[in-house]
Amino acid sequence: MVDEPSNLAGAVADAVDPDEVVTFTRSLIAARSENPGGTEDAAADVAVSILRGLGADPTIVRSDAGRPSVVAAIGDGGRPHLAWNGHLDVVPAGSPDTWASDPWAGAIHDGRLVGRGSADMKGPIGAALAAAAALVRSGVQRRGTLVFHLAADEELAGIHGTKVLWERGLLDQDACIVGEPSELQLGLAERGGAWFTATAYGRAAHGSQPHRGVNAITSMARFLLRLPEVLPDLEHPLTGRPTVNAALITGGSAPNVVPDRCQVDIDRRISPGETDPEQVRAPFLALVADLQRDHPDLEIDVELREWTDAAEASPDTEIVRIARDAVAAQTGTSPASVGFTGITDARFYINQAEIPTVILGPGSLTVAHTAGESIDVDELVAGARSYARIFATFLG
Ligand SMILES: [Zn+2]
Repeated sequence: MVDEPSNLAGAVADAVDPDEVVTFTRSLIAARSENPGGTEDAAADVAVSILRGLGADPTIVRSDAGRPSVVAAIGDGGRPHLAWNGHLDVVPAGSPDTWASDPWAGAIHDGRLVGRGSADMKGPIGAALAAAAALVRSGVQRRGTLVFHLAADEELAGIHGTKVLWERGLLDQDACIVGEPSELQLGLAERGGAWFTATAYGRAAHGSQPHRGVNAITSMARFLLRLPEVLPDLEHPLTGRPTVNAALITGGSAPNVVPDRCQVDIDRRISPGETDPEQVRAPFLALVADLQRDHPDLEIDVELREWTDAAEASPDTEIVRIARDAVAAQTGTSPASVGFTGITDARFYINQAEIPTVILGPGSLTVAHTAGESIDVDELVAGARSYARIFATFLG
């Protein structure tokens, strides 16, 4: 029976054109959108023109700073609505000398397409657009609407991108796929971040008479060496243990002065379930108090500068089931449930909009942000065909 759902999904998967997947991906990579360092306008224009070719009428939603996100609907506008989110920005390519080939050309070497954003995440966007093209060509979309959210500014926390879409009331779909590279596994949780600034205060003195002062750098050193003690004994089944990293340090005023100040930015990654900033901060203060027992002159303040929630999606939703079946049918292997150690825009759908969500995309985070970033072309096409199956099933 040709209209049996899995056969329909298979037919749409077969309608994906591998050349189109590569062409879309290459044209997106060539439209440079480094963040920091540029805007997403060129990449948004490429996406708009591809989406117009699919019969959509895309709109560009700009943040107050003018950064563009593309929103486009494919279908009759009726329910259900399935969101597919991807970010248009990429991290800077760095020096071209560190790349074996042009980071903006998308050349294929040994079966891998090379370029900044090939994995994170212009490859997944190209795959999703090619899957939408296959859906349109095969004419099986019998109900509902596929909604693309191609967002600005994910790499620097999404403030000008998906967050803006949420604030403007555009995150109201019935399910969502965030296409971050997951090696075609099902991403169901991600860690959040608590960024602290620790400031050690000392007392300045002549550098030849250090005993007359209190050295703020020495105080900070004592604190930093015991930093792992601030971590709670938690282990999340998908995201693992929380971490802490001393990221940026400044201190001192001159080579011959005892420093009276030293400041360190600390990156504490939080697990799903860690929701109270004061509870995360408390062990830092306890560590300072403990150090003061042996070093009464030590004085360190720890202030929370920024907090980003962790997120955890329900594994028991229709979109997760459909995604699992689609990847299994396409690749022959049932995908595992995995967690992301980093932060993605999925948190806006999961935490703010409370939409059933899965993170799923071709490509690997192990090569994202590196010089020579690349994606396996077979995996890229398998990603497009998996998306095609999901779209056909959810909207068929
Ligand atoms: Zn990404």
